Amino acid sequence: MNRTKRILILAGIGAALLGSAAAIYFAHISPPARTTLAPVAQPEDSAPAPDPQPASSGLAGSSAGQKQAFLTFDDGPCKSTPELLDTLRENGVQATFFVIGLQAQKYPDALRQMAADGDVIGVHSWTHKYSYIYQNMQNFSADFNQLKDYIQQVTGVAPDVCRFPGGTSNTVSRHYSKDHIMQQAVSYVQSEGFQYYDWNVSSGEAAAKRPSKDEIVNNVLSQCQKRTVAVILFHDDDNEDYIQAVPQIIDGLRSMGFDFETLSPGNPDVSQYKSVQFAPQ
Ligand code: ZN
Repeated sequence: MNRTKRILILAGIGAALLGSAAAIYFAHISPPARTTLAPVAQPEDSAPAPDPQPASSGLAGSSAGQKQAFLTFDDGPCKSTPELLDTLRENGVQATFFVIGLQAQKYPDALRQMAADGDVIGVHSWTHKYSYIYQNMQNFSADFNQLKDYIQQVTGVAPDVCRFPGGTSNTVSRHYSKDHIMQQAVSYVQSEGFQYYDWNVSSGEAAAKRPSKDEIVNNVLSQCQKRTVAVILFHDDDNEDYIQAVPQIIDGLRSMGFDFETLSPGNPDVSQYKSVQFAPQ
């Protein structure tokens, strides 16, 4: 074999290896298969593309015990919240609740119980009324601060995490404000010392056609297979089916190597896990 032939063969092998490496890489970062469940009820129900794997942790699923799951419940509290809190407590899991002020006023004991259980209560919105909060920053900050103060007054704990109604990438806000109000809202909450979080796994339980308990379990577990950090969206909204799904979800995630944690500024690290913060639109 002459030198040119050898070089050509080696180049061919190199190209083949590069090709398969690229195929593995792109398969890994390609978005998860979207659920074929019924259309979603609100713009909060969408999941972004997976995070690239952090260099230090190897492939997803290869480092049991290092994976973090954050159960998050939006829009409560409600009548069934005590049942949800019992379920979490029985399973030894703490969660993060992004509450609505008007609901919290009706169920202040639920907030006290969350605080007593070590759950985290974050600011979602006092009114959750898009046409009001996204009209201008004056409305946004008044609504935000009313809930922030209420949480502190009822539980004695000052909140430091928040989630924007509709998520940070919602475009609904554009109907109510000509400015790019989401960018301003992000700057505002950060200047107030808050970390905002979206989600990278959606249970889909708030879809117009309510999924069954098993579908909710499958939605969550299948999306978490691609994750080392999973911020999982549920709605605490009187749909008791998903409460029945929670123990199975907890068991499933534990067997996949996930630990359960609550959101706080810096955990998870948003510079590393970018999918838990959507880009403001
Ligand atoms: Zn909401």
